[in-house]
Amino acid sequence: MLNDLYQIVDLDELDPMFDEVARFIVQNQQGSTSAVQHRFLIGYNRAGRIMAQIEAAGIIGSVEGSNPREVLIKDMVSLEMLLENYTYCSQSEELLLRRKKNEEIQRQQWIEEQQRLEREQIVYKIKERHRIKQLEKIIRQELIDSGELFGEQPKRPPIPKEVVDAVYTRDGGRCVYCGSIQNIHIDHIIPFSKGGATNVENLQLLCQKCNLEKSNKIG
Ligand SMILES: [Zn+2]
Repeated sequence: MLNDLYQIVDLDELDPMFDEVARFIVQNQQGSTSAVQHRFLIGYNRAGRIMAQIEAAGIIGSVEGSNPREVLIKDMVSLEMLLENYTYCSQSEELLLRRKKNEEIQRQQWIEEQQRLEREQIVYKIKERHRIKQLEKIIRQELIDSGELFGEQPKRPPIPKEVVDAVYTRDGGRCVYCGSIQNIHIDHIIPFSKGGATNVENLQLLCQKCNLEKSNKIG
């Protein structure tokens, strides 16, 4: 029982009485647990724990049979130096703890940053997918318009070349909304699916961007 106690020594958590008991022992050059108990009015278990700490700190020797423990530190100056060293150690322990805490905070910030980046990537992917879907819609319509692809329900016949030419000439080869000459194609003003005719009056030139905006408004 006693021996078990002596083996569990944590010098990082010194008993608050550690210094005082150590001084008492070195001053009297006597390493007796019961003397410590009586001098400091503490219980047997606590006295045992302090003695174990004092032994682990190298101030007293171990228990050998019924002989009194040897006091290894012979004078107070040596003891004070040793105690100072222990105080120093517990201070650097505190520094270490603070550093550990900072590392933990940094790690947490790193994780949050990673999650933010991951979210950004997902948002980008979703937007990109949406953009491609919209483009597909337009290109499909273009393919249907040009006769390369047959539309769904009301199959739209290809626009006659002379009608396309007339619309192109009338609109000057430019998007009637923004004047762009990029990605120009023919658009039904009243959509074909809503009964709009395929004639010069109901057709106009639109760029891809303006057509996208128009089809988004119509839905
Ligand atoms: Zn345009």
